[in-house]
Order: sequence, then structure tokens, then C-alpha cells
Amino acid sequence: MKYANSVIDLIGDTPLVRLNQVTQGLRATILVKLEYLNPGGSIKDRIALKMVEEAEQSGALRPGGTVVEPTSGNTGVGLALVAQQKGYRTVFVTPDKVGEEKRDVLRAYGGEVVVTASSVPPESPYSYYGVSDRLTREIPGAYKPDQFSNPAAPASHYETTGPEIWRDTDGRITHAVIGAGTGGTITGTGRYLKEVSRDRPSGPVRIIGADPDGSVYSGGTGRPYFLEGVGEDMWPGNYDPEVADEVVPVTDAESFAMTRRLAREEGLLVGGSSGMAVVAALRAAQDLTEDDVVVVILPDGGRGYLAKIFNDDWMGRHGFPLEQHPAGEDGNDG
Ligand code: PMP
Repeated sequence: MKYANSVIDLIGDTPLVRLNQVTQGLRATILVKLEYLNPGGSIKDRIALKMVEEAEQSGALRPGGTVVEPTSGNTGVGLALVAQQKGYRTVFVTPDKVGEEKRDVLRAYGGEVVVTASSVPPESPYSYYGVSDRLTREIPGAYKPDQFSNPAAPASHYETTGPEIWRDTDGRITHAVIGAGTGGTITGTGRYLKEVSRDRPSGPVRIIGADPDGSVYSGGTGRPYFLEGVGEDMWPGNYDPEVADEVVPVTDAESFAMTRRLAREEGLLVGGSSGMAVVAALRAAQDLTEDDVVVVILPDGGRGYLAKIFNDDWMGRHGFPLEQHPAGEDGNDG
């Protein structure tokens, strides 16, 4: 019989698939790694598992304990499912600007959700951060993983995401394109790929960061953008600026148009940060040859963005073009 002992055992080992349509005219092989096939629907399942396991080993999390994290997104889902399987309670702190549907997902997994006002300053005891710190102090046996600074997050990618990519490309990968939010994915995956390829004749894997235009990683000031899960207005502890050889800024408009093309043309219903990473990859691939193998990490699926990126009215209201075609095409997509 072929089965997993628990849903936790299905985390990781995601497949690579080649892009065939949006890459027309390019000579390099462009492969994408489908992180939405993790059981919680995103790459964050990997860090959730590692952060909880490390906390168990260090004694920070003991039987009957509670995981408390300020998150409304993918990390919450990963933590909710890992904690539930291991018998821990979860409390997630989310700002009120986060959509009700995201909170409902956390509750569906059995998580408890505490809502905080977005209108108070970050240093207030009633803010998102203030409340999660207080709950961590007050709930007996509480443990706050803190994905922005927990070294287990990049370590999970160093131990799983990076080695999977190296193995599945038979060591032929030449470029990795990775978006940065907390920085854990690019730091852990990029560090592994550079180290393992350091001495090969063709040189180490080149690590290309993809970043929302306006975010600090690509030289911005933290100016707002619509892309979710990526970019920062501060430098988190888990982002190692030594890992990326370059960081490419990508606009919301370019990212969303590509996200829609990935669904329509490649059959990949993914989130906006995936479209962003593919835009950066195609730009980098302009100068590459048939010997080059580019791997792009696609962090999550598109279901959570149906009312935004995949909604024509929302796109129009924010002035985003629905489709963007490469130069030379007539723009008629039938
Ligand atoms: N894309 C999405 C949709 C995410 O939720 C995240 C996590 N914040 C990322 C990309 C970036 O991953 P990391 O935090 O490891 O940099």
C-alpha cells in the first residue's frame, strides 16, 4: 500500500515543470517549482514544520503547548496544520484589514484567531505585534515561532528546497529565481545551491532575487504595492543580502499580467508573487543560451487571489492591464 502516515509527511518534494508558452523566443530551459502542491497550499508548510520541530527539540514547545504567531497568510495555514497534527493549540493574530476569508481558513484548521485594529501604531500594546507579544507572555506554554528571525525558516529551505532542486535538475541548474518576503526562501535555498555548485567547471548557480518595485531588497523605500507575501519595508533577520547576485524589481502590473498568463497559457493557477518571479526570470533569460537551466520557485496557488488578480473589475479599478504580451505579439489572445 502506498500512503503517507500523516499529512505532515506530504510536505515538500514538489515537482518541477517546464514553461512552454510564456517563454516563447527564449533559448534557456525555464522550470518552475510548484509549491502550491504542499498540503497547506504553499511553500510555508516547510518552515512551519521545521520551526515546530526545532521548538520541540529545544523544549520551547512542550506537550499541551500553544503556537502563537502574528500571521494571516500562508505561514498560519502551515503552522495550523502542523500544530494540529502534533497536538498543539494555535492562536493567530491578524490585523482587521485582512479579509474574513483568510481568517476562516485558519479557523477551518482549528486555529483561534484574534483580530487587532490596523489603525493603531505598531508600538501600541493593541497592535498586531503588541497583542501577539502579550498573548505569548500570558498563555501558559505559549511559543512564538517568529518567521522573520527564526533560523529554522532558512534552514528548512537549505535542507529541503535547495537539495530537491539540485537533485531534480541533475546539478544542471544555472540560475535560480526566488522572491523574497521574510527572506527565508532565498537565503536557505540560494545558500545551498551556491555551496553545492561552488566548484563545478561552469561556476556556481546564479541567484536572482525578485522583488516588488518599491521594496527595500531592490533598493526601494518600502513604498506600497499590491503584491502579497513579498517585499519588505525593513530588513528582516532571515534575509542574508550576500546570497542574491542581483535583485530585480518587478511592478504590480507586470506581475499580475504574468500571473494571469500562467493560469491561461500554462495551466498554473498561482499567486501574484509567482507571476512576479516569472517576470524576473524571463527578463534574466533574454541573454541566456540552450545550455542554461533556470528554476523559478512559485510559492503559492491562485485561489486566494480570485477576487483580486483574477477579477477583471478589480484589475481595472486599480489601473492594471489585463494581459501584457511580449514585444512583437499583436496582443490578440482570442
Ligand atoms: N510568496 C508568498 C505568497 C508568500 O506568502 C511568501 C512568504 N511571505 C513569499 C512569497 C516569500 O517567502 P519568504 O518569506 O521565504 O521570503
